[in-house]
Amino acid sequence: MPDMHSFDSEYLIVGQGIGGTSVAWHLYDSGKSFQIVADSSMPSSSRVAAGIFNPLTGKKLVKTWLADDLFPYARLFYGGLEQRLGCKFMHLTPIYRPFRSIEEQNTYLAQTADPGIRPYIATTPDPGSGMPYVNAGFGGLEVVQSGWIDLPALLDASRAYFQERNAYVEATFDPAQLSRTEEGIEWNGKRFKTVVFCQGFFALENSWFDWLPFAPVKGQILEITTDVSLKPYIINQGIFALPISENRMKVGATYSWDPLDWEATGTATGELEDKLKGLLNSPYALTGAQAGIRPSVRDRRPLIGIHPQFSNVCIFNGLGTKGVTLAPFLAKEFCNHLIYGKELNPLVNIKRYFSLYFR
Ligand SMILES: Cc1cc2nc3c(=O)[nH]c(=O)nc-3n(C[C@H](O)[C@H](O)[C@H](O)COP(=O)(O)OP(=O)(O)OC[C@H]3O[C@@H](n4cnc5c(N)ncnc54)[C@H](O)[C@@H]3O)c2cc1C
Repeated sequence: MPDMHSFDSEYLIVGQGIGGTSVAWHLYDSGKSFQIVADSSMPSSSRVAAGIFNPLTGKKLVKTWLADDLFPYARLFYGGLEQRLGCKFMHLTPIYRPFRSIEEQNTYLAQTADPGIRPYIATTPDPGSGMPYVNAGFGGLEVVQSGWIDLPALLDASRAYFQERNAYVEATFDPAQLSRTEEGIEWNGKRFKTVVFCQGFFALENSWFDWLPFAPVKGQILEITTDVSLKPYIINQGIFALPISENRMKVGATYSWDPLDWEATGTATGELEDKLKGLLNSPYALTGAQAGIRPSVRDRRPLIGIHPQFSNVCIFNGLGTKGVTLAPFLAKEFCNHLIYGKELNPLVNIKRYFSLYFR
């Protein structure tokens, strides 16, 4: 076996969405060398996403899986990166959920007694009266410990940081150009100990991992401008309306399965505008629309871990609809697994699907 010094870097990371970026930062902080290869002209779900992190989701106000671990860690991670990179991309913005009916008001208010969800609900009075542009005839609920990450800003600043340290190569990764043996990985004339694939939706084109049960979901969001002065609250009822400045909002998102492409459509725009008209009562102008593909999974849990047959081939993927919340904490767990052999949560470990590979 060659010793560590025969490698140019220990890790080759393929892809620089929030997945690859989170893995890279955790390797960096563990003193491990790596090279990222990414093609910034290729589509990326992270660059389309609204970047919202929301501890209480769905019609039933359910606490996000692992919320008590994920949320505090994500805040530490993004806050630390803001300081290190000298730019702002984390916005701690509460979420306002207008009630649809008196019944919903009663159900939600009863749920707030649950000690598990209480920390995520504001104890201050209903802020709805300060937002006359929102239809909230039955009042509403304020969710806290929420907000959004300006992902393009975070990804650009991280890329520049790694580029300066010769840890980022701008290229389309072609698997045919990678050679792998038990001794290591060779790509682009360089040697690595391990390759980590963080390709989002494009994992489906990767023959090492195309057997995993991805269930990708297309989504579209809109950008609008309004004349009213928007308050710093994300409005959420079926869809979200996220103020990104005093007069601009992102509105989303749709869920569709066919066709799975990156094109915004008039149908999806119409669907969002219909819902938006129920939520906001002020005029707006549509200024943009973007679509992306979420790397979702059949059991709605990430796909992380080491290949069943090749111990130097790994994946960090399956972040689905919640990459912003999941990526930091799970990248930490994944790196601890790779570096120190710590056990990975079986619910995210690809081991749960090894039978699909060996059948
Ligand atoms: C409309 C929409 C709204 C969303 N809103 C939210 C939200 O509010 N909050 C939230 O948490 N999540 C949201 N998501 C989900 C979020 O986008 C994903 O969970 C997350 O971005 C996935 O990150 P990733 O790094 O795994 O994949 P990606 O961001 O897709 O990154 C993978 C990268 O790898 C690159 N790559 C792949 N193959 C190659 C190759 N061969 N060579 C070079 N580069 C390659 C790709 O180009 C891409 O840049 C939303 C998604 C959509 C579509």
